[in-house]
Amino acid sequence: MATMRLEFVAQDHSVFSGDVTAVQAPGAEGQLGILPKHAPLMTVLSPGEVVVQREGAEPLYFAVSGGWMEVRPDQVTILARTAERSDQIDAARAEAARARAAQLLAQGIRRDQRALVELSLKRQIVRLRVSGRRRGWYGPTASESDTQTKIE
Ligand code: ATP
Repeated sequence: MATMRLEFVAQDHSVFSGDVTAVQAPGAEGQLGILPKHAPLMTVLSPGEVVVQREGAEPLYFAVSGGWMEVRPDQVTILARTAERSDQIDAARAEAARARAAQLLAQGIRRDQRALVELSLKRQIVRLRVSGRRRGWYGPTASESDTQTKIE
């Protein structure tokens, strides 16, 4: 099976580096599926899920809170603001932050703070979704569109 290189970093640390068969990532306009020999592209990433497919291994799932992705035919580079693998997500922490953000939004806050709190809410909802991933489960991905409906 054809492979490509994935270099996936978050701020100052490497999240994943290796050969992969496919990558799915939350592009600005929806989930993107990248296979080897993909046409070059550069995109902003929204808060959402990155799925890494490897040959002969279970997929890996990551929650990202935004960033950039560069695609070349033989390499994908992801620069994420933050990234956590599904089994490394502290669901209690995400739930506490989600509840704080939801409470602030329900109370009514200053307009300039609202966007930041809405973004936090999106990050936590994505973390909670991705932390619920189980090995070998191929359900719908946790993308920004999933979080949008919960915020409205
Ligand atoms: P919190 O209020 O819980 O800190 P946050 O959304 O403000 O949440 P971020 O600024 O997005 O946190 O992330 C700060 C650092 O903590 C990053 O390294 C991120 O990967 C990590 N992190 C945030 N939330 C979690 C979580 N629920 N489980 C594991 N790591 C997390």
